[in-house]
Amino acid sequence: MSMLFEDRVTLFVKVIVPLPLPKIYTYRVPHEWTDLVFVGQRIAVPFGTKKVYSGIIYELTESPPEGYQADYILDLLDEKPIVSLLQLKFWDWISQYYMCFLGDVLSTALPAGFRVQSMTKLSLHPDFDPDDLQPLDSKENEILSLLLTSKSIAVEQVQSALKMKSVLKYIKSMYVKGIISMEEELKENYKPKFSEWIFCTDFWDNETDANLALNQMERKSIKQFEAMMYILGAPGKQIESKQLVLNKSVSRNTLISLEKKGYIQLVKKREDRFHAIQGEGDLVELTDTQKVAVDEIEQAFKLKKHTLLHGVTGSGKTHIYLHFAEQSLKEGKQVLFLVPEVALTEHLVSRVAQLISQEIGVWHHYYSTSERTELYEKIRLREINFIIGTRNALFAPFAELDLIIIDEEHESSYKQFEKRPNFHARDAAFQLAKLNHSKILMGSATPSYEMLQLANDSVIQKVQLLQRFEQQQFAEFMTLNLGDLKKQNRMQGFFSDLAVEAIKEKLKRKEKVIVYHNRKGYAPFIQCGTCGHTTQCVQCDIALTFYKSYNQQRCNYCGYQQNVPKNCPACSSADLIMKGVGTEKIVEELNLIFPELRISRFDQTSIKKRSDFQKILDAFESGEIEILVGTQLLAKGIDFEDVALIVVPDADIMLNLPDFRSHERAFQQLYQLSGRAGRGKKRGQVLVQSYQPNHLVLNAVKDEAYAELAVSELIERQTFGYPPFSRLIDISVKHKDQQTVFSAAAHLNNILRNKLGDRLLGPLTPSVSRVKNMYIQQFLLKMDRQKDNIPKIKEFLFWAQNQLQTTNGFSAVRVDFDVDPN
Ligand code: ADP
Ligand code: ZN
Ligand code: ZN
Repeated sequence: MSMLFEDRVTLFVKVIVPLPLPKIYTYRVPHEWTDLVFVGQRIAVPFGTKKVYSGIIYELTESPPEGYQADYILDLLDEKPIVSLLQLKFWDWISQYYMCFLGDVLSTALPAGFRVQSMTKLSLHPDFDPDDLQPLDSKENEILSLLLTSKSIAVEQVQSALKMKSVLKYIKSMYVKGIISMEEELKENYKPKFSEWIFCTDFWDNETDANLALNQMERKSIKQFEAMMYILGAPGKQIESKQLVLNKSVSRNTLISLEKKGYIQLVKKREDRFHAIQGEGDLVELTDTQKVAVDEIEQAFKLKKHTLLHGVTGSGKTHIYLHFAEQSLKEGKQVLFLVPEVALTEHLVSRVAQLISQEIGVWHHYYSTSERTELYEKIRLREINFIIGTRNALFAPFAELDLIIIDEEHESSYKQFEKRPNFHARDAAFQLAKLNHSKILMGSATPSYEMLQLANDSVIQKVQLLQRFEQQQFAEFMTLNLGDLKKQNRMQGFFSDLAVEAIKEKLKRKEKVIVYHNRKGYAPFIQCGTCGHTTQCVQCDIALTFYKSYNQQRCNYCGYQQNVPKNCPACSSADLIMKGVGTEKIVEELNLIFPELRISRFDQTSIKKRSDFQKILDAFESGEIEILVGTQLLAKGIDFEDVALIVVPDADIMLNLPDFRSHERAFQQLYQLSGRAGRGKKRGQVLVQSYQPNHLVLNAVKDEAYAELAVSELIERQTFGYPPFSRLIDISVKHKDQQTVFSAAAHLNNILRNKLGDRLLGPLTPSVSRVKNMYIQQFLLKMDRQKDNIPKIKEFLFWAQNQLQTTNGFSAVRVDFDVDPN
């Protein structure tokens, strides 16, 4: 048999592209690349007629796809895989469990630098003749004038110039008329940065030769001599070319001739934009109580059990985490330390850097794309083993992850809610740990009921640490009855005379005061005093919040903003009243009561840059700011010296939320907050104003009775079938047209109801029934953790979604699933 007829196997690859697509597309591999493709590798693939995306190879296969002709892959973007099989397994799990597409996971998991984008470039066709122009419509004319002024232009630029999205039809028609030519340009988002360095060669090691050469140079070429002296004098006899050129105005030619003579060597070095932080410090000696906890955790780890460290604030949880981190790192293994909030990472990293002598990689979204891309590579290549990061750090390319630490495990910010995948980092960490055979050490002063129940069921081990370091005392927690105080005319705005007195007294002693109010802006809404009309967002069914600092009204759901109307849009009355109270208003109020004090806000709107956090905190620490008014952000694990008093002017905001978790959350907030008051020997004080001063949550905080509260609340949750005893999925149906969304929800109800019965609640109209111009109808699915086959039900939901969207009139209806909603 001739070699010519030997069967050549054609290889196909299944590819994940960063798009929300329900299926994975298959591409064909050119024969010459058969041995060069791997699972986890980045490649470029065509998509549609004009788009090119970078994707990740998900699977190699010899079978062609069914139903369509596979396109060829266009390019191999890496020589080796950048995503491991383990990572892909984790992506699979995320997409199945949280009911999203692999493309959604890819978009979250890989730093944007790895996602090459397709930028279709347009230019005038070389044969274009303006004299021979067919009539164009006005949009086409606009595009033409754009093309006449610039050589090439991206589709995106056309979109923004014409202020419209759908420009493709014009482009297409101009393409057909022969006016435009298109080219596809693959744009690498991330390019490593190189810099040139000058190194002295070993010629200079011999002193006699060196002196001779310098003497000669000084006579023949003073330029070369000066440059050489400068280089030899640089630390380590090396210097960046740029710096030499700048400082000594040395020409390129001088450098090249020095290199030719063998005096120096010019080397291109990859410049690291990402800077890991080098920790330089030692672990502290643990106290006896802490040592007991460490022993218990070790026992649990021996039994392959994940551990929940329930340690009161100030008990030294951080030191215990680091004890275990160092053990793993010493063995050369990797450790992931999750924190709930970007705002806290910086603070924690600097603290950790003083306690451990390891290089720390910091993974969160405040870093630039290039920084994160570089960090990704460093973790993948095992150059960095210790990662501190927010929830997305779960997607780092670990190879030998030994330990996952989850600080403040109960924090709701571990759940990604603003986009898919709607994963919960703590829960997903269990899966990551399973795949990597890692241990989990979670900690909290107020563990989530979910984790407490897992401990009750002996799935995980709970370890308690109920003693504060050096016997610090929990704050004195006092509630004030707002109803009584109002009746007795003892209020100055939002502050009772008791609160005002307490603030005065602390400040007289140069102690610090925090006012906690979990509502941003100045006034949550503006209402007309004549007709009662409130200004609503144009895109959402919700009142606009008034921000005095911007002098604008803004929507907290979609970011829409507008100037404040002078007159009521409904009846033209000028009688507009600010309703409700936000932090800005609180600050204003305090300024009236204490005109001589320096008062500052600490919330998302007062903080625009990464460095602002630290600036405000430093100013407070140093006493420059005397009262800090903050939202939830303040309650979370930031330590200040000398906070003697915390005032909560309105506790009812948190007590009255219509949510089965509201008690759990309210306790957590108030308790965390109280943990900030008092340090060292001094006992702090917390003053809480409320219309329900004997609310069970307030009493529980006062008595530090979290465990007791949890026991009774868990019984209640079991009775009413709420998590952790059931599993919930939120199903929202969305469409631009209100009538369509109603009928789509009714139709979906028909499809689902038969099979799901009364597990399904709804459809109902949520309290915010329209967001970003999409009307919403909602279902809540409650499933039994034990009895129901949840993966099967999820499959059924996908099927039902597909049924709905293939029904006439409903193709544009969106169905979003939120698994384990917050
Ligand atoms: P938690 O995270 O449990 O609230 P921290 O780890 O922040 O507690 O510890 C509270 C304070 O006590 C910190 O200032 C910490 O440095 C100090 N501390 C705790 N344990 C020790 C120890 N063994 N040695 C020295 N200082 C400790
Ligand atoms: Zn009005
Ligand atoms: Zn809005």
